[in-house]
Amino acid sequence: MAIDVLIPNQLPRTNVGRSLLIKSFFLCLCALFLIPAFGTHAGTGEPWDLVESENFRVYYRGNAKSAQKVLDISEEFYPKMHRLMGDVRIGRIEIWVCGAPSEFQAAVHAPIQDWAIGCAFPLSRRIIIQNPRVIIQRDFQLAQVIRHEIVHVIFGQRTKKAIGKIPRWFVEGVAIYFSGEWAPRRNDALMKHIFSKSVIPLAELTNRFPKSENQAQLAYAESQNAVEWLVETHGVEKLWEIVDQLAEGDDLDTAFRNSIGLPLVAFDAQWRKSLSQRYHWAAMLSSSHLFWGSLAVFFMLVYLRYWRYKRRRLRQMERESEEVDAFFIER
Ligand SMILES: [Zn+2]
Repeated sequence: MAIDVLIPNQLPRTNVGRSLLIKSFFLCLCALFLIPAFGTHAGTGEPWDLVESENFRVYYRGNAKSAQKVLDISEEFYPKMHRLMGDVRIGRIEIWVCGAPSEFQAAVHAPIQDWAIGCAFPLSRRIIIQNPRVIIQRDFQLAQVIRHEIVHVIFGQRTKKAIGKIPRWFVEGVAIYFSGEWAPRRNDALMKHIFSKSVIPLAELTNRFPKSENQAQLAYAESQNAVEWLVETHGVEKLWEIVDQLAEGDDLDTAFRNSIGLPLVAFDAQWRKSLSQRYHWAAMLSSSHLFWGSLAVFFMLVYLRYWRYKRRRLRQMERESEEVDAFFIER
């Protein structure tokens, strides 16, 4: 329930908030013990405001315009996830827009969390995002972050029966694929690691992503690429089949075997093998050392060629000046 993390002095200034005040007084006692991640850590005593729509509630502190924008992006995206929802009734999703990075940091103790930008709790249909200004400063698009987290919630609700059995790389890959996210920086990271043959096997991205930001970005890029490759090689309907099977409670390995005839371990190996075949030249060019080294060699060759031409031309001019014009030859 949305209200389960509110403590009385955090209730939004709305009718919804007021009508649930008494109820929350009792629920908050449980919340303080059961789900303290957001309500207590982020509770600075300042009240949260609320804007809401048919499918979302956006809690915020400060900028009402940003909150409305978050709500508009969410409502615009929601109907596009109709097929992912299947016949599951999702219920209202709540989005908490943090005012300060410290509020967000305090709340990031989630089963699914994104690198210091957004965080989703699918089972409680809760999303926590950084202040939109922080998101933009870090070169992420607000709409992409919101859509990504909404996919987490909807996918998590749909696959509740298998939620502990789905590898992290697949959960993130699905979120990136369905949200239509594009992060060139992540792609660059992947290309560099293909070149240096240091791609992380998907099996190592089952339970958690690496702690360092660079390695985490690589893990996101790999997740995206693996799901895209699955769609490229087997078709999008196979991805839907896998989602349907997860919704039935199958684990991912079973779903892969049933839909594409490959166990996860074989898919992982084939996908990694495909990387060096698909991105051979791109990986070479994306390596900054090699790129700048090649560029330096190129300019050196151009200079050498010019220098040789110039030397040849000077010699030719010398020869011409040494020749005596036939007109002045004395007989
Ligand atoms: Zn994510």
